Amino acid sequence: MNSVFEEAVIRQQFEQRGINLKLISLIWKYLAVHENVEAYEVPGLSKAACDVLRTNFKSTTSTVKATVKSADQSTTKLLIQLQNGSFVETVIMSYDSRLGTYAGRQRPGGPRATLCVSSQVGCKMGCTFCATGSMGFKSNLSAGEIVEQLVHASRLLQIRNVVFMGMGEPLNNYNSVVEAIRSMTGQCFQIAPRHITISTVGVIPRINSLKYDLPNVNLAVSLHAPLQEVRCQIMPAARAYPLRKLMDTLRSYQEHCKRKIFIEYIMLDGINDQEDQAHQLGTLLEEREVVVNLIPFNPIGSISKFSSSTKENIELFQKVLRNVYNIRTTVRQEMGQDISGACGQLLVKFSGENSINMEYGRQSEGIPDIEDLSL
Ligand code: SF4
Repeated sequence: MNSVFEEAVIRQQFEQRGINLKLISLIWKYLAVHENVEAYEVPGLSKAACDVLRTNFKSTTSTVKATVKSADQSTTKLLIQLQNGSFVETVIMSYDSRLGTYAGRQRPGGPRATLCVSSQVGCKMGCTFCATGSMGFKSNLSAGEIVEQLVHASRLLQIRNVVFMGMGEPLNNYNSVVEAIRSMTGQCFQIAPRHITISTVGVIPRINSLKYDLPNVNLAVSLHAPLQEVRCQIMPAARAYPLRKLMDTLRSYQEHCKRKIFIEYIMLDGINDQEDQAHQLGTLLEEREVVVNLIPFNPIGSISKFSSSTKENIELFQKVLRNVYNIRTTVRQEMGQDISGACGQLLVKFSGENSINMEYGRQSEGIPDIEDLSL
């Protein structure tokens, strides 16, 4: 059975039978707030639509098997079982953007929630600090399975932002990710493209496609080292995507999209966190429109040999980037740490990549989500 959120499939089947395509949005809107209802039971459908839905589509193909909330209620993790029996995690991070200030001003807005979705079961990129990397690649999620993560989350909270920072390298499942984003930004969910972020280790050919396919979504690149040699040590996939070529690709992406790029940098003690490496990174990025996010490594549950950089090293690294190279640089602070121990891969990944950003010395000016950094 197909997921009713598999947009390409349902469109094709409706088109073939001359069924009004506007019904898709009606069905999705209803199912986004009603659980335990089959797609053909949605009120207001034609008989032809009901027949197609009854025979070929399930309202959701995935099931939430567990929901875990952090003690401070800021973070909710959903353990989701897919149709093929595999599990992925989806994490909702919520906060009130009116709390605190930014750049001396009271923040606009109000309660917001960011959803972190998985795009693959496992991952073949093999980053040595990441638990998922050690699992190897198991399978790709379909577009419908990615959208269903938003459906499950939307039943709990209104989602404003979506980040592709869960299990998997999203650009290795390119077609499904692009299709899922098109569904998320469509009439039913109406997530603004600028509130969606794709995080990649730097899959060059796909970044080149992304600038044409989704020019308005945010791109976050996991750089993690300023030199190719160190990158290869901690991210084996970097051998296929050399740093110089990646930087050229990002330049061309930026010329086309006119958007800031987010640079993710996990802070590993003695590996990539030294002062000279901060200068190397500064030199590499100083002419570019980027925001650097320094991610303190969280070794809990990690099978890797790395340990987290000291607070002093992180502060110094940030200071060099900001003061010498004038690069906007934030340090991430974990949300819902008490439940990250329950995670598999996300245990490591989420420790940094799905958390609020704060700048040392200006903690009352914490940046609640990555999109706010592009303001
Ligand atoms: S950090 Fe991301 S790309 Fe690297 S192994 Fe983990 S999931 Fe894959």
